[in-house]
Amino acid sequence: MPAANPTTALIYSDEQSQHVLSPTHPMRPIRLHHMHELMRAAKLLDADAILSQSPREATEDEIATSHDADYIEIVKAIDAGAIVIGMDRYGFGPGDNPPRHGVYRHAALAAGGAVLATELVLNGTVKNAFSPAGGMHHHAMHNRASGFGIFNDAVIAINHLIDQGLRTLYVDIDVHHGDGVQAGLYDTDRAMTVSIHESGQWLFPGTGSPNETGIGDGEGYSVNIPLAPYTDDTLWHKAFDAIIPDLARAFAPDILFTQLGIDTHRNDPLAHLSLTTQGHNLAVKKFARLADELDIPWIAVGGGGYDMAAVARAWTMDLATMAKQSLPERIPSTYTSLTNLPTFNDLGDYRIDADTRKDIIRHNRQGIDAVRNQIFPKFGL
Ligand SMILES: [Zn+2]
Repeated sequence: MPAANPTTALIYSDEQSQHVLSPTHPMRPIRLHHMHELMRAAKLLDADAILSQSPREATEDEIATSHDADYIEIVKAIDAGAIVIGMDRYGFGPGDNPPRHGVYRHAALAAGGAVLATELVLNGTVKNAFSPAGGMHHHAMHNRASGFGIFNDAVIAINHLIDQGLRTLYVDIDVHHGDGVQAGLYDTDRAMTVSIHESGQWLFPGTGSPNETGIGDGEGYSVNIPLAPYTDDTLWHKAFDAIIPDLARAFAPDILFTQLGIDTHRNDPLAHLSLTTQGHNLAVKKFARLADELDIPWIAVGGGGYDMAAVARAWTMDLATMAKQSLPERIPSTYTSLTNLPTFNDLGDYRIDADTRKDIIRHNRQGIDAVRNQIFPKFGL
């Protein structure tokens, strides 16, 4: 039965969690099942404010707004089990993007989920929508798979918004630079992309310098905030606060689109930032305030996150924030999908020695100053 007065759509189907990319692959879709069970145990799925919807596959025309026809055909052929000679040119092979049956279906569902999110907020069904299986594809390029990304759901959805005359603010808080989204929207002033990430000096994909500011009409509309390894909640938010609220107000978007990767977490095995679940969720609370203040709809997608416990807790907290629901402090005892999770927030101090902290502050300051010098004047700031 549909919720009585939904404010928030959760776009997810358990089909999105049942596949395996390869036996040793760090991206384990089952993380979304653990997350969804935690949302259930926390009674979010029963809340009147939350409308659960299954995604549909993006159509080929929708996918083609972001990807070349020959690449789409290659993904189809790989999905069908064909041995595709030269698939490495399209980013497939052992490692990040293994060829497998289902690759087209799952990527098309993630992309369709993001498009459905745009439809639900634009037709007034809800104020905001969360598609946790999306966002993972933020490295996907127009002609190749990259970094677990196949079809770039964010670019596809934002192109859909551009087609309707809407200007989008995209903010990517994944630990990795959102290079595919930046590349897909690099020459337009109809979308501003902001990525706050661990610096490419230390981490895949190696890009995301403040000097990457856009080209042509898009000059000034690509914003990058690179951070030093071990950046913690306090220092991460210092960078966030120095750039994002002012820029958001100056750009005055029609819609907010956020990528909520939780591979910034201090337990994440693939990267080196030191955020907690509550530090991550504080950013989502700031997005909620921004969407309210600007009175604009808000779409959120998931992203990276390779510590199962962090993913389940953080995205449950984020859904609660989006739908203005409260959560108990402790994980409900009915939750058995993952064990030994005591609380939603992370407990315990994470101490950085004073010298390292100084180095982090110095490095982060350079990035913040570069953005403020290169981007802010264009927007009268
Ligand atoms: Zn990531």
